[in-house]
Parts: sequence; structure tokens; C-alpha cells
Amino acid sequence: MSATIIEQLFGVLPAACIRRNVFLRDYTSMRVGGPADIFIEPETDEQVELVCHFARVHSIPLLLLGNGSNTLVSDDGFRGIVLHIGSRMSAISCDGCVITAQAGALLSTVARIAAEHGMTGFECLAGIPGSTGGAVCMNAGAYGGEMKDVIVSARVLADGVIKTLALPELELSYRHSAVMEHGWTVLSARFQLKKGDPAQIRAAMADYAARRREKQPLQYPSCGSFFKRPSGYFAGALIQDSHLKGYSIGGAQVSELHAGFIINKGGATAQDIYRLMRHVQNTVLADSGVELQPEVRLIGRFDP
Ligand SMILES: Cc1cc2nc3c(=O)[nH]c(=O)nc-3n(C[C@H](O)[C@H](O)[C@H](O)COP(=O)(O)OP(=O)(O)OC[C@H]3O[C@@H](n4cnc5c(N)ncnc54)[C@H](O)[C@@H]3O)c2cc1C
Repeated sequence: MSATIIEQLFGVLPAACIRRNVFLRDYTSMRVGGPADIFIEPETDEQVELVCHFARVHSIPLLLLGNGSNTLVSDDGFRGIVLHIGSRMSAISCDGCVITAQAGALLSTVARIAAEHGMTGFECLAGIPGSTGGAVCMNAGAYGGEMKDVIVSARVLADGVIKTLALPELELSYRHSAVMEHGWTVLSARFQLKKGDPAQIRAAMADYAARRREKQPLQYPSCGSFFKRPSGYFAGALIQDSHLKGYSIGGAQVSELHAGFIINKGGATAQDIYRLMRHVQNTVLADSGVELQPEVRLIGRFDP
């Protein structure tokens, strides 16, 4: 990226929104990842549109980052622009049983507001540590529910045009969406919930949170379940059957509590995590004949 192009970008965005050489380990739940050349935290849809347009016109690689809880960034970082849609675009509003959340709103906050307003349907999603935009992109889900069950529409920037897409057009399926497929940008999403009993809603959320605390190594940095669920199997069970629980490379470890999680036990590099991922994939393939695919999005360059 030439200095002139960078200067142009600095010229059109408020100074508070744009920085250079920002380490992505500070913005990802694995706590690894080198610097992004340019790191932008937009405040408005117009700024998102401007940055996406700028990147397209100048052929600059663009990475959308929400809460970074499903993204593994390489130690080299990202050569291009990271567009971090976070707390500056996180407004939430309620109208009857419909909640509208900007892309940067955390699912935990949406769930809290739903509970406060006596709305049911979001409880099982409350513990997913993602942003609304990231969760739409991933069709995040837990405990038998997924984004697909509660979304009615999303405002997206699709190929340079802001559109409201209805649920079918979002093509949400297991950890997949049209947003992911086409590299679109989610600006906000609308959720349809139902009237419920506030005490029951709070109790259900507490129950899901307790199950997570019991079964997941939440005290360590991770991306949650590292691999997608292979058809007919559970990734964690396959990894456990390959006797990989507790297996470590550098600071990266297959969690002893939940074999589906790769954790940063302390001081892991992104390359440690990548090598451990490959080791798990190769071992499970050799033992069970099943190919594990990462659910986590891998960004940047990793050594084979
Ligand atoms: C402890 C732990 C537990 C977890 N439990 C679950 C679980 O139960 N179920 C589950 O599904 N996941 C789970 N996850 C994974 C993760 O939280 C979800 O995938 C979440 O939806 C990712 O959201 P994010 O904002 O962090 O996305 P990021 O990691 O920031 O991004 C993920 C993907 O979404 C894209 N993206 C981000 N924002 C936007 C946007 N505005 N528009 C378009 N694309 C965007 C990114 O480019 C990337 O491809 C867990 C993670 C952790 C650390």
C-alpha cells in the first residue's frame, strides 16, 4: 500500500477512527496475531461504506473483524486494512418483540436487553462471545439454537450497495452464510423474539452459563470449538479418542477439559496454534478417517 493511498484514507476519516500497525492479538480472543497495516474502527454505516469502497477501488486486502472470537491471525499480522466493527457501532433498540442491533453489539448485550424486556428466544445464544456481525456471518449457535432461528433480516453492504436482506437471502446454514460466501459486510440485524417470563428467561441464561463454565476452559484464551462438527461425529470425541487431550505444541494445547478447544496456555504463538491444529487434523484422519475442518477463520500466512 503506497504512502499516498494511506494519506488519502487518513484524510477522509476522523483521526480517532484510524491507526497504523495495530497488533491484532489485542482484538482476538486467542490473544495472538501480529500487526495490521491499517486498523479502522468505524462509527457510522457511511464510514464502513467508504472504507469498503476505498479498499475495492485500490485493490487493498480488507479484513472484517468483530469481537475476534473466531479468528486466528498469523504472527505476521495482516497486510491491508482491518475494519473492526465493535463498540462504536453497537446500538440496540427494541420495538415490541423485535430487537435491532448494530453489527458491533455483543450477543451477550442483546441477550441481556432481551431478558430485561421479557423477551424469550435469545437465551441459548447469550454465552457466545461474538458480535452481531460476526455471529450472522458464522450463523453462530449453541444448545440447539442458532442465529437462523431468531433473525428476520439484516442490513448488509453487498457489493457496494446497502440492502436489507430477509432471512432466506442470508442463506444461513451450519457455520455458514451468504455473508461469508460473498464477503459482504453486516451493518445491523433484526431479531424476532417472543414474550416470555423474565424469571424463566434469567434462569435459562444462568443454566446455559453454568453449563459453559463446567464444560469449557473459559479461563484460557481460545476461539471456542476449533473445528466444525463433522457429519455424524463430534470433533471433541474424535480428538479425545485419538488421545490428544492435553497435547501441546509450544504454548498451544488441546484443552484437557474439552478436547474440541485449542487453548493458549500462555505465550502461544499463532504458529504454535496452527501447528497443533494440523497435528490434530492429521492424527484424527489417520485414526478415524475423518477430516476435521476448522470452524475458526485463519487469517494471514502460516508455515506449513
Ligand atoms: C469461549 C468461546 C466460546 C464460544 N462458543 C461458541 C458457541 O457456542 N457457538 C458458536 O457458534 N460459536 C462459539 N464461539 C465462536 C465465536 O464466538 C462465534 O463464531 C462468533 O459468532 C464470532 O463472532 P465475532 O464477532 O467474534 O467474529 P470474528 O471472530 O470477529 O469474525 C468471524 C468471522 O465473521 C466475519 N465478520 C465479523 N464481523 C462482521 C461483519 N460486521 N460483517 C460481516 N462479516 C463479519 C469475520 O470477517 C470472520 O470471517 C465461541 C468462542 C469462544 C472464544
